[in-house]
Amino acid sequence: MSTPQLILKQRAELLAVLCGGGSAEPLDCVLDLLLAWEVLVWEDYLSIQVAEKALSYKVRQLLDVVYDKGEDACSCLLAAMNQVLPEEQKAGLCFGEECAVVGKNRPDTATLTLLADRPVLVRKLRDNIDGALNALLTTGCFTIKDCDAVQLPIYTPSQQVRRLLDQVRFKGETAAKTLLQFLEQTETTRPNPEDKENHPSANCMLYQKKLRSSVAAQSHTLSTYGGTGHFSLDDIYTDGLLEVMDGSGETTTLGLEDVVGPVGTLNDDADTFLVSGEAGSGKSTLLQRLHLLWAREALLTNIFLLFPFSCRKLNAEHRELSLKELLFLHCCWPDRGQDEVFQFILDHPNLVLFTFDGLDEFKQGFTDEERHCCPTKQVPIPVLLFNLLQGTLMKGVMKVVTSRPQAVGPSLKRYLRKEVLLKGFSPGGIDCFVKKHHSDPAMARRVIESLQANSVLLSLCHIPVFCWIVTKCHQELLGSQDGIPQTITDVYLLVLQHFFQRKSYQPQGVLGKAWLEEHLDTVLKLGQLALESLEASCYVFSGYELQRIGLTEQDVSMGFLIYCNDLSVTDCKRYEFLHITLQCFFAALYVVLNRNSDRSAVSRLFQSQYRQLSSLSQRCLGHCIDSSVEEVESHVTETPNLQITAQFVSGLLSQRHHNLLQECCPTAVRERKAKQVVKSLSKGMQRHFKSIPRPVEGEKKSMHENSSFKNVNFIIYLFFQLLHLYVFLYSVWSDVGKSTYEGIRKLLEKGMKCERFQKIALFNNNLTDACTQHFAWLLKSKQNFLSLRLGNNNITSQGAEQLAEGLSSNQSLQFLGLWGNKIGDRGAEALADALRNSTTLIWLSCLQRWKAVPMFTLFRLLFLSDLICDSELNKNCISREGVECLIEALKMNSSVKEVWLRGNNLSPEEEEELSKQESRLTF
Ligand code: ADP
Repeated sequence: MSTPQLILKQRAELLAVLCGGGSAEPLDCVLDLLLAWEVLVWEDYLSIQVAEKALSYKVRQLLDVVYDKGEDACSCLLAAMNQVLPEEQKAGLCFGEECAVVGKNRPDTATLTLLADRPVLVRKLRDNIDGALNALLTTGCFTIKDCDAVQLPIYTPSQQVRRLLDQVRFKGETAAKTLLQFLEQTETTRPNPEDKENHPSANCMLYQKKLRSSVAAQSHTLSTYGGTGHFSLDDIYTDGLLEVMDGSGETTTLGLEDVVGPVGTLNDDADTFLVSGEAGSGKSTLLQRLHLLWAREALLTNIFLLFPFSCRKLNAEHRELSLKELLFLHCCWPDRGQDEVFQFILDHPNLVLFTFDGLDEFKQGFTDEERHCCPTKQVPIPVLLFNLLQGTLMKGVMKVVTSRPQAVGPSLKRYLRKEVLLKGFSPGGIDCFVKKHHSDPAMARRVIESLQANSVLLSLCHIPVFCWIVTKCHQELLGSQDGIPQTITDVYLLVLQHFFQRKSYQPQGVLGKAWLEEHLDTVLKLGQLALESLEASCYVFSGYELQRIGLTEQDVSMGFLIYCNDLSVTDCKRYEFLHITLQCFFAALYVVLNRNSDRSAVSRLFQSQYRQLSSLSQRCLGHCIDSSVEEVESHVTETPNLQITAQFVSGLLSQRHHNLLQECCPTAVRERKAKQVVKSLSKGMQRHFKSIPRPVEGEKKSMHENSSFKNVNFIIYLFFQLLHLYVFLYSVWSDVGKSTYEGIRKLLEKGMKCERFQKIALFNNNLTDACTQHFAWLLKSKQNFLSLRLGNNNITSQGAEQLAEGLSSNQSLQFLGLWGNKIGDRGAEALADALRNSTTLIWLSCLQRWKAVPMFTLFRLLFLSDLICDSELNKNCISREGVECLIEALKMNSSVKEVWLRGNNLSPEEEEELSKQESRLTF
């Protein structure tokens, strides 16, 4: 009998066995096989697996579809059923002659591979759905919604896998590849049980299980959501931007899985991977995500044991410990076979990973002076930590360390395998985070719209901690009567208000105008704790310390302090601030609001700024490097925090918050403090200018093309705030930033008084015409000023006219950089006129997209100023005619040595021909 006939004849029986017991599993297994054998195409499958239809309908549909396909298809169906059904159900059925399924060539796409391997994959993935989903989630192939749809509790694990596979197919080739990679990784990297060498004993397996479950419990929720409890890391985690720079300065974007991967490796001998980023950029959260994924076997699957450490918690360990004690006491205690487990760790460093969160919070700066390599000898914690990082102890164990960049000095850099930069959220990341935070899409939309309407707030949100605050305080934000927050201080005041509001048990909006005064006692106590501990580089507090300051349970319940998540074996409760920036904010509140604080609090805080400033400027300028480098490394742990605190102090002392603070602290006291701040900053500024070395003749580099300028800018920023100007802090934290004009005026005023202040470079600062008058004034008033470089700003013709005014009365300027502005034809004319009589200008850079007419103006300039010896006209719109004019002009001017003309409107042939005519042209 032919197989179609066999199917027809046994239709009722086949239906009965495939529906038997109401389970869809036999049918699903048969379908898996038929898909893999290409008996069914995807459309057939969809016509059978109709969601709302009963199982019997689906089986009938299958029988019909296969019957229609003819003899071969029917043979395969019978063969599949023969394979799937248990023996007892096959009794009485006839499956025809044994059918050999011909092995096809391996499919050439990942999607087809998934189909061809479907029956095996269902078995393999059944126990690791979480892992697969995480891999798909972290790579962005799946959304949380996709994962939820897969993991609906009504489905059995096998059905979940099939839904996962169907969804992956729907998502396309990238998702399919990701899944295959995940499978490959899990298989190849899982310690091979056959391999005697690697095979862990039962005790080691038990230990791994215990460690995995405590790491999972630890990393399951984010501490900032601790109080509310309804956000798991899975719900809220949003990928941050990760970048790595290779030896040649090329930047590559990385995924989470690449953090310990080969991309960006600088030193093959080292085992320490650094993740660096500013405060709040998400370093701890990233590490937490790594931990969680490891615990679920979804990432780092080649790592058998992962030991997570927090440097702030290690600060509190005053005992001398051996490596063994460090691992077992601080992470996870082996219930059985301690020695055996430890020996396994020693023997298999390649299967072990240590993570150290917040190296910048470790009290002691990194040094490699003391060598220690014995795993059982007890030594102080810093010795243990530093030797692990160097690889002197436990060479071969991978270490992932997070830190703010400032805390990583040259002596540690030597031991880094690579450095990954965490740059916070992308614009898409912000939207994604807000949507995850608000389950109500309408609310998420409102928050996103309000952010988009406020560019200051939006750019703040690139730093995840601010994104969290802004999202958390959305109600205050959307309903704020005092206007939308403009500065970081505003935002943190909003947090304060939010937390007090939450605990006030009063209807919304009832928190009165004097809310800060009402809670002053709590604020001051938290502030004292914050400041004293910041100064001592301490971030974790015992109950005793809280008591000493008088903090009550009620104060703690406000939510600014949280319990430390701790794996270590200690009974006593320990606390930390929700985030380090919040600790800085409380410290600043204390400095500003405490009437009894000694005067030195302000000077101590601000002196640390210029101490760092001057040592950094010395280091960066390179002219007078001395032993201060090591000194800088030992300060670095506390200075970033004190710098943030100082920013908050300046913010709080600004006029902007006068009304809020006046009831809490008399105006006279605050004014006195403001004066003290100004005095400290002036001193710092003067020191800085004095430390600038004299220009070297012919030097083209500006003094401010070095990172110390960030610090100068920081000082300017502090001035701004005191001057009641509301500058956006993020710009200062991220780069030289959007300096404001009053700040520039102040800077120039200060600089005027300093003989050696002769150069300034403020490229990429969004400067507009509002500031050019100050530069004009400088040019007029300072007749030894040498270099003004304002490239890539937003100066228009109006600003250029103002600059021209200054230039016409200046007789010292040698370098003028104005590329990348929009000064137009009128501005060019004005500048050319002003420079007509210049006897000093030797370098001019003008990338303007000028067309032909201003070219003549420029050439006139070149005619007239016979001192110019080098000129950059790259990336203008200069055509062949323009260059011919230029060549004519140059014939009359022998002082010009070189004119750069790269990126203009010329063909390579024209460039070659023209450079033959005039050798000073560089294309
Ligand atoms: P850092 O360690 O760089 O100071 P954290 O990791 O502590 O920064 O981040 C501060 C807060 O910002 C977190 O508690 C969390 O609320 C939020 N956050 C940081 N990174 C993420 C992320 N990737 N996804 C979601 N929220 C994040």
